[in-house]
Amino acid sequence: MCGIVGYVGKRDVIPVLLGGLQKLEYRGYDSAGIAYIQNDKMHIVKSKGRLTNLEKKLGDVVAENTIGIGHTRWATHGEPSDVNAHPHTDAAGDLAIVHNGIIENFAKLKTWLQAKGIHFISDTDTEVVAHLINYFDEGDLKTAVMRAIKMLEGSYALGVMSIKEPHRIIAARKDSPLVIGLGKGENLIASDFPALLEYTKDVYLLDDGEIAVITEKDVEVYDSYGNHIEKEHFTIDWDVAQAEKGGWEHFMIKEIHEQPTAMHDTLMARMRDGKIDLSEINITEELIKGIRGIHIVACGSAYHAGILGKYVIENIARIPVNVDVASEFRYRMPSPLLSKEDLFIVISQSGETADTIAALREAQSKGAKVIAITNVKGSTISREADFTMHTQAGMEIAVATSKGYLTQVLCLYMIAAEIGRMRGSLDDADYIDFIENLKKIPSLLEQILRDKEKIQQLASQRFMDVNEFFIGRGADYALMMEGSLKLKELSYIHSETYAAGELKHGPIALIEQNTLVMVLATQTVLMEKLISNIREVKARGAFVVAMTQQRNVETVEKEADMVLPLPDIDDLFAPILAAVPYQLYGYYTAVFKGCDVDKPRNLAKSVTVE
Ligand code: GLU
Repeated sequence: MCGIVGYVGKRDVIPVLLGGLQKLEYRGYDSAGIAYIQNDKMHIVKSKGRLTNLEKKLGDVVAENTIGIGHTRWATHGEPSDVNAHPHTDAAGDLAIVHNGIIENFAKLKTWLQAKGIHFISDTDTEVVAHLINYFDEGDLKTAVMRAIKMLEGSYALGVMSIKEPHRIIAARKDSPLVIGLGKGENLIASDFPALLEYTKDVYLLDDGEIAVITEKDVEVYDSYGNHIEKEHFTIDWDVAQAEKGGWEHFMIKEIHEQPTAMHDTLMARMRDGKIDLSEINITEELIKGIRGIHIVACGSAYHAGILGKYVIENIARIPVNVDVASEFRYRMPSPLLSKEDLFIVISQSGETADTIAALREAQSKGAKVIAITNVKGSTISREADFTMHTQAGMEIAVATSKGYLTQVLCLYMIAAEIGRMRGSLDDADYIDFIENLKKIPSLLEQILRDKEKIQQLASQRFMDVNEFFIGRGADYALMMEGSLKLKELSYIHSETYAAGELKHGPIALIEQNTLVMVLATQTVLMEKLISNIREVKARGAFVVAMTQQRNVETVEKEADMVLPLPDIDDLFAPILAAVPYQLYGYYTAVFKGCDVDKPRNLAKSVTVE
């Protein structure tokens, strides 16, 4: 959520900031602004809406050999407007700050500052921080920032600069992402890597409570007591090309097509001598023999991955799995029920999801060892978890996830296989067979991506729908949760997922003539029951589009209005394949409707606020 960029160096700071903010657009925003110092003066330009509005306001101004900070805001306190956009300043306009996060005690601090005669012009929580830093500024900006942040409750990533110290930016963070790019004769700060890649791949990952002083020549990092600390470099292994669309119309469709590679890479990263090796994440015989249950905690699509994981782990490993939404888990009253004998897994593509971070900390405080599944090396979650299984999806830019989700699912399948093998519920032959099925997936996904016309055609016929249903049983039901979410996120069509057997307990009342019901029918043992559900909705006028493996097409064709065939694969693995046609369906529907596919309204890529 929101994007921060800051630059110190010789280049014209304006295009560096605008370019960086553009690379962070995927995170979601409603206004943007920059501050830079020129002729001993602080210049602030900001605008509601898209970055192009800001660009227009800036015109052809050039500002070389100086410092600047930029921000894309995702409003939490005060409506999106020019005034509420960042940067915010002190009363004199000498000091400017950008902020990502929420200052929870801002009202109290505002009253305190107002009592001292300080006048506020915006509705934001952020403005409090600008005045607070100025209040403590007795000639050293770093000390002022340190004193100010001691008073803050909540989350923040901050970039601060002042005309009194025109050669340095001060950065600080707590529970909001911030990375520092280490260039040659130039240094940067940013909320995420894409904004830095053009200039450097060497970064410092700022930890909670740390403060950095960034000048053209160097970057110094201090702990919350002001002690200088030596930070370790981290080199990003993504390249600029991954952050570009490379000929595709949208990042979304590009990333959907990257799934065969992402799945191959994620699988291969954990294969040793024909077997899955999860010893690095502590899935060892000793641990597994001692556990009684598994908790999976995540948000959004990652939560859906967790639900599919539950079906697979319970099936293969015969161990109970509890899946919870992170924002619910952490507030379970009076506290979440966790036993030391439980395995605890958190999932987050960005590794910065605020609710998931809080759940991870809650679990650790109860003595649990946490395994994280995340796509971003060096992210908060990967650093704080006891063990991390990195998905090899590469950079994901489109706000709605595709390869991020599917590689998480794959990790859970691998965990299921390993636990099943260790607990003896999966014998050697079945284990080998399981791996063979996983290995087939990348090429079968390629096949699905080659045959996408039918999906495109369906989307062209249904994009005016206001309501659709996604149903399935067992693992298919879990997959349909994600199928439905893709349609909602991308095309804004209202859609609901139901366990097919639940329809008659209420939701069937919503079925009208021509209501689209998507049915996923890949589980042979549940087929008969599912066919009854198809008949139930058809009898009420539904238009049924069913997806099933090629071998079942003949059976399902007799019942549904349209059948979308999937390549043949064992039932347990078919939901993985099914994810892709539903992603394509959501994508094409959104394109036909003219939606902002890569940046759906109201959404942000990494939800760094609770
Ligand atoms: N809470 C701040 C605001 O509403 C920052 C929001 C953000 O992270 O963009 O201005």
